[in-house]
Amino acid sequence: MNPFAYTRATNQQAAIQAIAQQNAKFIAGGTNLLDLMKEHIEQPTRLIDINRLEFTQIVERNGGLRLGALAKNSDTANHRLVREHYPLVTQAILAGASAQLRNAATNGGNLMQRTRCYYFYDTAMPCNKREPDSGCGALEGFSRIHAIFGTSRQCIATHPSDMCVALAALDATVQVEGPQGPRSIPFAEFHRLPGDTPHIDTNLRRDELITAIDLPATANVFADHSYYLKVRDRASYAFALVSVAAALDIRNGLILEARVAMGGVAHKPWRATKAESALKGQRPEESSFRSAAEAEMQSAVGTEHNRFKIELGRRAIVRALTIAANSGRTA
Ligand code: SF4
Repeated sequence: MNPFAYTRATNQQAAIQAIAQQNAKFIAGGTNLLDLMKEHIEQPTRLIDINRLEFTQIVERNGGLRLGALAKNSDTANHRLVREHYPLVTQAILAGASAQLRNAATNGGNLMQRTRCYYFYDTAMPCNKREPDSGCGALEGFSRIHAIFGTSRQCIATHPSDMCVALAALDATVQVEGPQGPRSIPFAEFHRLPGDTPHIDTNLRRDELITAIDLPATANVFADHSYYLKVRDRASYAFALVSVAAALDIRNGLILEARVAMGGVAHKPWRATKAESALKGQRPEESSFRSAAEAEMQSAVGTEHNRFKIELGRRAIVRALTIAANSGRTA
């Protein structure tokens, strides 16, 4: 690990002033950043510890919930109001990492974690995300865990978060503060597809601080019919090969509105809008779910090693929607 200076910010203003220094980075739980620093992938010369800031609360706001950026993932998952009104978020968080990591990781940090592409972590290999215009080790390499939607000729990495898949499905909003004041970023616009700039993961500006994530009141309607399905190589402590956050608003035997988002398939949480459109007005039954899965997955493009994700994605969408329609019961 390279030498770095350490500053502890005691208020928001001090944190935003400190981040303006060249090559400075915020640190909270540090569950991804410290690994990246040990591997010489991230090399900040100054860390600004934001753990003393006040953004740890989870509170009701405008009929929805405001999740503090510094609330721990475990506290968020187990919060009574999250469990009652947004069980999809609880399920997604608990599907991620390990209990120890969830106790340390923060909500804001969860959004900022970086891809687990093997070549990104291997400094002997080319990687456009780690070093722009150096090439992509995965394109000609082993790409089993890589993306099938929204890829570019520069990068086929996936976003690793589970929590973010649920937040995408529920149309969360990210609240940030910067030198120009506060602004809100719709969740769908927070993470980016790789395009020609795979080294830029999000639309958060370098001098901005995430303060909260808002869950809208309108997403309350999905509490009775939602499910987060994660398919992975091991039963725990593994990233998703494919995951699906499914949420249905069912009234009078018909789907009034559907939300479907996928993880492990794209450079950002992938909102399955074609599946959502196909489900609207349909009966919550297997044939509807199959048509929705087909509609979404027909534009997926796999590589030699990850083509299996296309059929896996179809099946995962059907399974997640089936369980969501069944009020979260798996049988
Ligand atoms: Fe780097 Fe992206 Fe290629 Fe992985 S897929 S090696 S992160 S450029």
